[in-house]
Amino acid sequence: MVTTSNRETRGFQSEIRQLLHLMIHSLYSNEEIFLRELISNAADAIDKLKFAALSNEALYEGQADLRIEIEFDEKKHTITVRDNGIGMSRDEVIEHLGTIAKSGTKEFFAGLTGDARQDAQLIGQFGVGFYSSFIVADKVTVLTRKAGLEPAAGVRWESSGEGEFTVESLPIETRGTEVTLHLRKEARDFADAHRLRRIVKQYSDHIAIPIRMKPVSGEGEFETVNTATALWTRNKKDISDDEYREFYRHVAHDFEDPLSWAHNRVEGKLDYTMLLYLPKRAPFDLWDRQAKHGGLKLYVQRVFVLESSEELLPRYLRFVRGVIDTNDLPLNVSRELLQRNKAIDTIRGAAVKKVLGLIEKLAKGEEYPAFWKAFGTLLKEGVVEDDEQRGRLAELLRFSSTREDKAEPDVSLPAYVERMQPGQKGIYYLIADGFTTAKSSPHLEAFRAKNIEVLLLSEPIDEWLVTHLHEYADKPLLSATRGTLELDEAEGEKKDATEGADAEHGELVARIKQALATKVKDVRVSKRLTSSPACLVADDYAMSANLERILKAAGQSVEPAKRILEINPKHPIVTRLAGITADEQVAFWSEILLGQAVLAEGGKLDDPAAFVARLNEALGELAGPSAG
Ligand code: ADP
Ligand code: MG
Repeated sequence: MVTTSNRETRGFQSEIRQLLHLMIHSLYSNEEIFLRELISNAADAIDKLKFAALSNEALYEGQADLRIEIEFDEKKHTITVRDNGIGMSRDEVIEHLGTIAKSGTKEFFAGLTGDARQDAQLIGQFGVGFYSSFIVADKVTVLTRKAGLEPAAGVRWESSGEGEFTVESLPIETRGTEVTLHLRKEARDFADAHRLRRIVKQYSDHIAIPIRMKPVSGEGEFETVNTATALWTRNKKDISDDEYREFYRHVAHDFEDPLSWAHNRVEGKLDYTMLLYLPKRAPFDLWDRQAKHGGLKLYVQRVFVLESSEELLPRYLRFVRGVIDTNDLPLNVSRELLQRNKAIDTIRGAAVKKVLGLIEKLAKGEEYPAFWKAFGTLLKEGVVEDDEQRGRLAELLRFSSTREDKAEPDVSLPAYVERMQPGQKGIYYLIADGFTTAKSSPHLEAFRAKNIEVLLLSEPIDEWLVTHLHEYADKPLLSATRGTLELDEAEGEKKDATEGADAEHGELVARIKQALATKVKDVRVSKRLTSSPACLVADDYAMSANLERILKAAGQSVEPAKRILEINPKHPIVTRLAGITADEQVAFWSEILLGQAVLAEGGKLDDPAAFVARLNEALGELAGPSAG
């Protein structure tokens, strides 16, 4: 027996209250999206029913013509969206229409600025969903009954979108969900046949399920108002760019247009269709390790099976959105099965190639810098992870370099190689923890003097990038802070000059080496420096200082590798040191040389106070005796 005692009032999760408030105040200029969201939920519910019915036909309850209906009442100022999809149980209603389960929710709320326009963008990426109803409605009523349950399992949910909602059980004969919006005064014009049809055409034409409305006259049977065939199954030449864009907004839950897309059908040993999109910006949860990256939908014989990307594309392409539809997988395919399935391997390989093709095309145009800014780090991940595509991905990389000394990365490897000096041994790079540190590094002095370009890297991933990308176009990648430098050979310059220098300064080098014996691996005369007194250089195979910093920051204990101190014998500090023999003085100046070299590369001193004391002593000497 159903009584009113089963009625309960509940508070929304606090995030929902915040979201509702924001939505109503940020999205009023986009108010018509509510219809797209409700239709999209109805279509999802029908997809879910179809999938569940594959293994349990009884769920159709003898009613298998699946459709979405829209009705309105201009006198009562209501709009109703109805579907005969999977429906919801009472618990599901409370869970789905009372909380937000998305991962990254906290980060999303932290990212809100209070600026309506900016926040509208963010909300758009987060996915507005069901709650967008409250942009136009001051009361929303949901009637729903889950497929396969008794009529008595029906549920009524109602809320005015403020702090609370009510749920109660009541008998509902037919399965599915019906959402009724009680329009706000300002939004009453939406209860109009022409307006609703236009919005359906504009936002939901591509939905593969019939969306039905009464004829405009208001008299007669429901008629279908959308095209109602899955967009990707249609012929490319019959699909307009606007239709592609609208479909993107649907699959990607994104407000914005995509950057580009590729749509192709393959028939042969395997049959599949894919429609893949590159978004303009990174989704808000792109870097959330917990996030299940969806956005790529797998259909098997037109039935939606799962939303994912990791099984369908490698992780580094997790920003790609779209649909893959194939006839060559079993309908009951699971994630586990996908991970070791030959057909999906082939499809995945083809999808990777398509996506790289799209990016390559983009790389020739003006939009690439923005794309690189959003997704460049992921392409670097790709170089690390994807042995097969490494060469192709390498061409897509962009770096800052000493050529222009600007932070925006716009130098490609092909362009670099093109500009290499005759006889240059390889592609030089320098990694530091920031662009400014990188570009002012003393290690670059000789390169600048000889007009040799050096790529300036400053992302954490760059350390891994260079350990996987050993060469490009047969040119090795060489660190500017590693090993001995042989920049001169091409011009046939005399190596002996520097070898002579080693001999000439042998005694000085030996003294410094003794003074710093516990701190550096070796001391030698530098071929890199023109104006700085000294710098630190890693051995060819030792861990770089930057990687050490990264690992330490990540909480790993690393045994710091001792490095080589290179000195510039022409620098006044060094020439002064050459004239000193007292051990204490040699130690004093050697410590200054070492300390400034550590600071110049953005490193941390072991004992900063001792360094400052030494520096002050030296400066004090310069300043002369005090007046007092
Ligand atoms: P999303 O669609 O991104 O999950 P929404 O806010 O649009 O977010 O919907 C929240 C949840 O409510 C859905 O995931 C679904 O579980 C449930 N839901 C909404 N509308 C319907 C419907 N018409 N039929 C069944 N379930 C629905
Ligand atoms: Mg939704």
